[in-house]
Parts: sequence; C-alpha cells; structure tokens
Amino acid sequence: MTATITLVRGDITRQSADAIVNAANSSLLGGGGVDGAIHRRGGPAILEDCRRLRASHHGKGLPTGRAVATTAGDLDARWVIHTVGPVHGAPGGDPELLASCYRESLRVADELGARTVAFPAISTGVYRWPMDDAARIAVETVRSTPTAVEEVRFVLLDDRAYEAFARQLG
Ligand code: ADP
Repeated sequence: MTATITLVRGDITRQSADAIVNAANSSLLGGGGVDGAIHRRGGPAILEDCRRLRASHHGKGLPTGRAVATTAGDLDARWVIHTVGPVHGAPGGDPELLASCYRESLRVADELGARTVAFPAISTGVYRWPMDDAARIAVETVRSTPTAVEEVRFVLLDDRAYEAFARQLG
C-alpha cells in the first residue's frame, strides 16, 4: 500500500494527525522555522525527549536523511518525527538525502503505527532547496514508498509552497 496524499495550506503546529514531522537540524535541540514553531507550541516535553535521544543514541547529532520520534507534547498529535533535511548546494546536499527524509519518516511512522502523518516542505526554508524540486522529490518519494500510513498530508505555509505541491499532484 502507499499513502493517499492530501494538501493543506497552513501552520503544521495547528494540525491534528497521529504524527507531525519536524524539519529539524542534526543537533535536535531546536532551531528556527518550522522547528521553532513545533517546540514553541508543543512545549518543553519535546525538547526533553530530544535531549534524551541525543544522549542515548545520537550524541553526535542525527545524520541528514534520518528520522527519530519523540512525544508531541501539547500538539494535537501522538508523536513528532524529527528528520534532518540536506542543505541545498552544500556538500552532502544530495537529492537522495531529501528523498530519504520522507522514506525514513514513513518507516518510523510505520514502526509507531501512525496512520496519518503531516509533513512540512522539508529543506525549503533555511536549507534553501528550490520549492518546485523539493515538491517533486516529496511527492515522488511518498508515491513510491510502501507504507501502512493511510494519509500523508503536506502542510504548506504559503501560496507558493501550496501551488508547487499542487502542480506535482496534477
Ligand atoms: P529547513 O531548515 O528544512 O529548510 P525551515 O523550517 O527553515 O526548514 O523551512 C521548511 C519549510 O517549512 C519552509 O517552506 C517554511 O516556509 C515552512 N514552515 C515554517 N514554519 C512552518 C509552519 N509553522 N507550518 C508549516 N510550514 C512551516
């Protein structure tokens, strides 16, 4: 099975889903953009879990393209899945790593038993990935990844992002 893709324009921290994906950085200690918004609205429990994960598994940080889950704190979700996107144009800024963020997040979602998963447009902010290319990689990867997740919801903050994803869905 593959997931059904839906699109929403809005703030991912206002979504109700089994899992909300965070475009984190490898420190897992929070940042700007969607990461900052998730920690602000989700409250300190998320950061506490991130610190625990760092200490037990990822002392050197979470590698680009990987994903890990924490509590969702006060968000209307059961889990936050943190994944680290590649920086466009930087060494290691490989499209395959952006695809890996979506695949690994779905793998973690399957391990958790999540059925609805909300994703932001990973790497398209501070990490500068061109929106159209990021949308293509996101949609192609979700369409080709077998999963028990029933709904993948892309939550796009602005018109430009929403329209780029809508074009990919055709
Ligand atoms: P990255 O470091 O992976 O580029 P950013 O958080 O800087 O992550 O941006 C990723 C995308 O998330 C951008 O398109 C940005 O506009 C969007 N974004 C920022 N805040 C939110 C939010 N609250 N809900 C949904 N998308 C968001």
